[in-house]
Amino acid sequence: MGMDNQAFIYRMFSKFYNENIDRIETPKSIENREFGFTIFKENVMIRHKGFMRAEDLKEFIRKTVPSNVYYSTAYYIMPEAKMDEKGWLGSDLFFDIDADHMPTECNKIHDTWTCEKCGLTSNGVTPKKCPRCGSESFDEKTWPCEKCLEAAKVETIKLIDMLTGDLGFSISEIKCSFSGHRGYHIQVESEEILKLDSTARKEIVDYVTGTGIDAIFHGLELINYGEARILVGPNLDDFGWRGRAARGTYEFLLKATAEDLKRLGLKSRVINEILANKNEILESWKTSGPWNMVRGLGLNGWRKIIQRGISLQSAKIDTVVTVDIHRLIRLPGTLHGKTGLLKVSFPASEIEAFDPLKEAVAFKGGEAKIYVEEAPKFRLGDEDFGPFKKQTVSLPLSAAIFLLCKDAGEVIDSNV
Ligand SMILES: [Zn+2]
Ligand SMILES: [Zn+2]
Repeated sequence: MGMDNQAFIYRMFSKFYNENIDRIETPKSIENREFGFTIFKENVMIRHKGFMRAEDLKEFIRKTVPSNVYYSTAYYIMPEAKMDEKGWLGSDLFFDIDADHMPTECNKIHDTWTCEKCGLTSNGVTPKKCPRCGSESFDEKTWPCEKCLEAAKVETIKLIDMLTGDLGFSISEIKCSFSGHRGYHIQVESEEILKLDSTARKEIVDYVTGTGIDAIFHGLELINYGEARILVGPNLDDFGWRGRAARGTYEFLLKATAEDLKRLGLKSRVINEILANKNEILESWKTSGPWNMVRGLGLNGWRKIIQRGISLQSAKIDTVVTVDIHRLIRLPGTLHGKTGLLKVSFPASEIEAFDPLKEAVAFKGGEAKIYVEEAPKFRLGDEDFGPFKKQTVSLPLSAAIFLLCKDAGEVIDSNV
């Protein structure tokens, strides 16, 4: 009786696009964008496609039913030409924030990788090279869990804050979207950034990631005070990275354990001083700051602590993506082939309250019976599912398609 997974997912994607084709968001200047698709059967990327009108794009998606739909952040004179003959006109400023790049506590539980060459398998973040055979190709199983998505959201909020507060973009020109899997996308469509080359974009990357920020260029210094030499440093409400460094330092000290401080290379006497006077240190920020309060802690010790604070304040983006001015990105309003969830865009101002596991649910109504090999507990909409292990379950269509797209089971039957 069993149906083929891929045929079932294809049929559901096709039904979705037939009923929801207008959820697809047409990018600005569609005629200058390159499009790319993966299709179910071959699982290869078809790219260098162009469309003159939104209707043509929608018609193509409805007929082809791709497993993934992408478009270029770049604008070209001839999007269908070979890469070096397209005629680059500019590119949106784009950021990818993905839980894959964040070592959350829970990914050790729900994420696994298997080396395709030697078969070594383990939990957590996938390494760049297999520790046993050195191969770089892996079969990964990662899950869009609530905690990971929350971590990605925190990074996205930090980024939006820097783009508006420090770099001067208005919140209305920042487009935010949930990727449909494990992260968020931030896109700025603005004349000002259109023509920036990779090097200029790298400068922006360095800024938002706090790369090369050193406290001694941001207010940390020894000054003469009468006969004495005293240490001064950045304040919590200072502008730009100066304030961020101070706030990050405060945040770090608020939670720091002896172990955290030891990792910075501080001496145990200094560590004890910090921990014994924690409340006074935190309080001191209301006045002149903590810089002269800890016996034995001088400019270099503070510099290390502030460095930790800077890394807490930096936005954990995938740096390669922002620098790439020919990047293809997922089109909002289309389905993610590995989850069956939608890439959904929303105003950046609404990010705090945005619930990706609710807003991205594409399939409403219907049920399917599936056999699940293994899946951690997950939530879609208001319902929790799993964990499952080697069992047959009847699930709402959205949860069933999610597991099938994740390659975690086999479809048995459905009423759709
Ligand atoms: Zn290996
Ligand atoms: Zn997680």
